[in-house]
Amino acid sequence: METWVVANQKGGVGKTTVSLNIGALLAARGQKVLLIDLDPHASLTAYLKFDPDAVERTAYDVFLSKADMGTSYYKTGIDNLYLLAASSGLATLDRHFGTQQGAGTMLKKALSESGLDMDYVLVDCPPTLGILMVNALAAANFLLIPVQTEFLALKGLERMKHTLDMISQSRRAALPYLIVPTLFDRRTQASRDALEILRENHREDMWGLNIPIDTQFRDASKMGVSIKQFNSHAIGTAACESLLDTVLEMRGGGTPYLKRANGGV
Ligand code: ADP
Ligand code: MG
Repeated sequence: METWVVANQKGGVGKTTVSLNIGALLAARGQKVLLIDLDPHASLTAYLKFDPDAVERTAYDVFLSKADMGTSYYKTGIDNLYLLAASSGLATLDRHFGTQQGAGTMLKKALSESGLDMDYVLVDCPPTLGILMVNALAAANFLLIPVQTEFLALKGLERMKHTLDMISQSRRAALPYLIVPTLFDRRTQASRDALEILRENHREDMWGLNIPIDTQFRDASKMGVSIKQFNSHAIGTAACESLLDTVLEMRGGGTPYLKRANGGV
């Protein structure tokens, strides 16, 4: 089981969009995928048409050990795609656990002890550094950092890289990651400039392509479907497919896909 985390210390950069669409594409390729919504704002939960105020079992209950990870997720309207929902209570976890010993590895422990029958777990993070993001990064095998191609968003990336350094130190191993330029608008100079600055500073850690602005991402989210389900010919669909291919390549040539396709575990 691979755990991919989608994080950046900035909101509105496409984290939830990337989590949902990469998860849905993996699911469409025959993988069993669990999405975990760790954002107290619960955008991913709402995207999949669950009401964060009414859903019975959430990630919050798992953190408080009131529920088991293995029995707390829900089937979504998308085949092979499951959701561990968020609730606003997640925002209280920093206060609840503080700097308690082991507070940063609760998710990792819950995932490894739950005996989950998933090929992939994708974790959508809140835009703030706190106990939720620390838990996600501690559990991660791989990190995707969506960065909006806009000057102000580049600052969020610097903060995120600093966090990553800290986490890698405490994990005693570097966490592999990929910077993903998002919301790229080739018609604007500002977007092209920001992409250029990203390339200059982070070329080695950056996906060579980008996720362009495509209004169909928003249309798909309103309907609770992936962009591929909304329009398989959308430019956003092609971008997401190609991002997934790149990440699978980085993670070892997509071996897990072959495993399940051959009827293995
Ligand atoms: P985050 O999770 O980082 O806060 P979201 O994924 O929720 O960001 O995206 C913020 C808003 O921008 C949403 O309304 C989403 O539909 C829209 N959006 C995200 N990516 C794109 C894109 N490539 N093109 C157009 N709209 C997008
Ligand atoms: Mg989000």
